[in-house]
Amino acid sequence: MKNIAILCSGGDVSGMNPALKHFVEYSFEKGLRPYFIYDGYEGLIDNTIKQVTYSDVAGIITQGGTKIGSSRSKRFMQKNYRTQAKQNLDDLDIGMLVVLGGDGSFRGLDIFYKEHGVKFCGIPSTIDNDIKGTDYCLGVDTALNTIKTSIDAIRDTASSFRRAFIIETMGRDCGYLALVSHLTSGSELCLVPEKKYDLKSYEKNFKEQIKNGRRYFIAIVSEGIKQDAQEIADWFEKEIGIESRVCVLGHIQRGGNPSIYDRLMAYKFVTHAIDALLENKKESIVCYDTSGFSLKSIHLLVDGKKELDKKLLDYLK
Ligand code: ADP
Repeated sequence: MKNIAILCSGGDVSGMNPALKHFVEYSFEKGLRPYFIYDGYEGLIDNTIKQVTYSDVAGIITQGGTKIGSSRSKRFMQKNYRTQAKQNLDDLDIGMLVVLGGDGSFRGLDIFYKEHGVKFCGIPSTIDNDIKGTDYCLGVDTALNTIKTSIDAIRDTASSFRRAFIIETMGRDCGYLALVSHLTSGSELCLVPEKKYDLKSYEKNFKEQIKNGRRYFIAIVSEGIKQDAQEIADWFEKEIGIESRVCVLGHIQRGGNPSIYDRLMAYKFVTHAIDALLENKKESIVCYDTSGFSLKSIHLLVDGKKELDKKLLDYLK
């Protein structure tokens, strides 16, 4: 029986627990012995690695976050700790690794592979949807649904009080969450880092809308834009003449009951990852786009930046 391990690194997402559940079940199906590595690369260094079975994943499919914890590990940036990590894997005879993480985690993994040749397969997992080479990262759908619920709720109070609400979404330098939320919630304004904007250009139109009876505005701004959300709120108050409030959604976007889509994607991502390792693919990431799933070398993903879909961006007026 061969040993296989899984870890979660960097920002957690809803969908990691469904992935862990299927990892255990599919490992057994394929005649592998599954292990959990707790707390990301920190656990890899500290040897918090445990052999697991079905009972370890009972009932977790409905939960956000990750049962095995995640971490940001400064020590993993140092060669001596990565050597320690490799020793821990060797001691348990673990030769296959599945990693759920974002581009930072994959950068670390790339270095780990180059130094020690540990066979791995990565599963893109970040609500930011900012990993080059894949159109979808685990957790994005749940995050979008959480944002949708929040915007719908804010709309109720915005219309009652005649206010402008500036809702800030996560995404670091990537405006994906903000843009998709804008297009699907009918907000009046959306600002993302990928598109230059001039607030002045909206003034005449917004004032006219108020004259014609508009009671409220919803603006969705991505955290990576040049101005902070409060400055946009100040502009609404001063130039448009409407009372304004800021709502930073923050970590609410990361958690919550995993959506059906993320549960299914977790299932498929894990199946592809384990199959890839069994086919002796050594350093690949499972990617997903309109043509389906594919395996890409980690080099393609860690060099360069993910560009936001141009067609989607064109919808932004
Ligand atoms: P994410 O994977 O969500 O993008 P981070 O960027 O915080 O999250 O990266 C997660 C972890 O990956 C870091 O805390 C570190 O342990 C590891 N990592 C990132 N970059 C490197 C690197 N250049 N060398 C070694 N490890 C790295």
